[in-house]
Amino acid sequence: MNFRNRLYRFMQGRNGVDALARFLNRVSLGCLIVAILFTFISLVCLRREAVTASSVFRILYYVVYGIGIVLAVLWIFRVFSRNVSKRQAENTRFEYRMQKIRRKTASLKQRWKDRKTLKYFRCPNCKQMIRAPRHKGKIRVTCSKCGHIFLTKT
Ligand SMILES: [Zn+2]
Repeated sequence: MNFRNRLYRFMQGRNGVDALARFLNRVSLGCLIVAILFTFISLVCLRREAVTASSVFRILYYVVYGIGIVLAVLWIFRVFSRNVSKRQAENTRFEYRMQKIRRKTASLKQRWKDRKTLKYFRCPNCKQMIRAPRHKGKIRVTCSKCGHIFLTKT
């Protein structure tokens, strides 16, 4: 049996690489890179005889390195786990959360882009987000979701 087949047989019934595993992998790699950067800064501080700063960066190095190692262990655990249904449930929750964050960032970006022309506010009754053109003085708003009518300044 060649290596490919053997690997395939080995991975049968295991979770493998999913979105959450890829995320853990990337963040752990990022941590390791930042940790190396902290060691470097710590060494530079020591050379300039900034002993306190050097120890602070040394401690930061241990913390970030530790987090990176823990995430790497979690990543490996996910990929080789045989409890596929549980890992899939975790992955679904993770993807749902990521989607929510992505949607939230997109809406914040849009609000930032519109900040000079549109005002965003929430309906006091149902908390629905509503927008209206700016600099129109006091206006009467009818909520598109619950029909609540209220006054607001633009
Ligand atoms: Zn409403």
